[in-house]
Amino acid sequence: MPPLPLTGGCQCGAVRYAISAVPRVFYLCHCSECQTQTSSAFGESLRCDPASVVVTGTMKTTRRVAESGTVRLGDFCPACGVRIQHRSEGDPGRLNVKAGTLDDPSWLVPAGHIWTRSRQAFVTIGADELSYPEGPDDGGAAMAARWREMLGQGG
Ligand SMILES: [Zn+2]
Ligand SMILES: [Zn+2]
Repeated sequence: MPPLPLTGGCQCGAVRYAISAVPRVFYLCHCSECQTQTSSAFGESLRCDPASVVVTGTMKTTRRVAESGTVRLGDFCPACGVRIQHRSEGDPGRLNVKAGTLDDPSWLVPAGHIWTRSRQAFVTIGADELSYPEGPDDGGAAMAARWREMLGQGG
């Protein structure tokens, strides 16, 4: 991982952010919602302590009720439309930065894959990688432990 803070932002530069603490986990979501939202094959989620993420610039927020009933919030740059982060209403401890917006995403390796039952056929997941057909059945504990291991911070 590069030295903290991790920095990033939208395509036009109106929204910028800095992450001042080591993220909790990085994973890929292959659900159809993420495919539609990113207009790509999967969503990249870098889960951070919300207190460690400082955003400059004004974002707008989309609100969408997921199948589970959870209200998902998506913060984006109103000028260029780039999605910056995802949150869940009523769960202020949780924040996922959309990792493709990092200035330097070159170091990222996912700790796991979720919702693989809807993954695109060309996406190959290694036999030794953590993957879940739907959401992780352990609340993401195994992926978080793998992530710490990958960063050399012990299990
Ligand atoms: Zn922008
Ligand atoms: Zn998803």
